[in-house]
Amino acid sequence: MEQPYYEKIGSEEKVFRFCYDKHLPLMTKGPTGCGKSRFIEYMAYHLKRPLITVSCNEDTTAVDLLGRYTIKAGDTVWQDGPLTRAVREGAILYLDEIVEAREDVIVAIHSLTDHRRELFLDAQNENIKAKDEFMMVVSFNPGYQKSFKELKTSTRQRFVALDFEYPKPKTEALIVAKESNIDSNKAKALVKVAQKIRAMNELGISSPISTRLLVNAAKLIESGLEDRLACSVSISRCLSDDSEVTQAIDDLIALYI
Ligand code: ADP
Repeated sequence: MEQPYYEKIGSEEKVFRFCYDKHLPLMTKGPTGCGKSRFIEYMAYHLKRPLITVSCNEDTTAVDLLGRYTIKAGDTVWQDGPLTRAVREGAILYLDEIVEAREDVIVAIHSLTDHRRELFLDAQNENIKAKDEFMMVVSFNPGYQKSFKELKTSTRQRFVALDFEYPKPKTEALIVAKESNIDSNKAKALVKVAQKIRAMNELGISSPISTRLLVNAAKLIESGLEDRLACSVSISRCLSDDSEVTQAIDDLIALYI
C-alpha cells in the first residue's frame, strides 16, 4: 500500500502514538472534510496496522458491528462483523460519525473503551480479549449534530479527544496543490475563496466549505474544466440549494478565480 499523503497540523501524530501505546481510545472531533479520515489512514500506515473503517448512520446497529449468523451452502455459519474482526486481528477500528449509530452500538463498545478491552459476543457466548495492537478511534462532528444528536458525557469521557479544524491557509493551499497537481497560485486563490465563504455567516450555509470541496474543484480545474464552472459545480452547488446563495458564492468566486 502506498503511503497516504497527510500534512501535519499540530501534535496529532504524537497524541495518537501515545494513545496507541497506552491502549487509550481516541476521538477525533471536527467538521466534515477537514482531514480526520486521512489522518487515521496515515497513522495506520505508519503503525503498520490494518485499518477497518465503519461509516455509521442511523441504521447502524450493534449486530452490524459484532457479527451475525448467515446461511452458507445450507449451513448456518457465524460471521464476524468489523468490530469483532478488528479486536481479533489487532486492527485500528475507525467508527466514523459514531453519534449517528444506534444506542446499542455505544453499549457494545463500552467494554472495549476501558481497562477491560474485551468484547462479549452474546450470540456466541464468547468473551474476546482485544489484541494489544487493537485501537478504537471514533469521529464526531460537534457543530453539525448540535441541534439533534450529542454524545453522552459517560461515552465521551472514555476517549482522549483531538480537535481538528480546517488547516491554516498556507497549509490548506499546499494540500490542495498536492492533492490535485494544480499550480500553487490557483490553489492559493481557492483557499482565499474558502476563507471568504467561511467568514460569511450571513449565507446561512449549514456545513462550512471543507478542504475536500477545494480539492474537488482543483482536480476538475487541473483536468481542464473551466475554472469558474469547476468551482460552481464543486463548491457553490454543493454548499447550497438556494439560488440566491449559490449566485452570491459564484460572484465571490469570480472575484478571485
Ligand atoms: P474527514 O474525515 O474529516 O471528513 P477527510 O480526511 O476525508 O475528511 O479529508 C477530505 C480530503 O481533504 C482528503 O481526501 C484530502 O484530500 C484533504 N485533506 C484534508 N486535510 C488534509 C491533510 N491534513 N493532509 C492531506 N490531505 C488533507
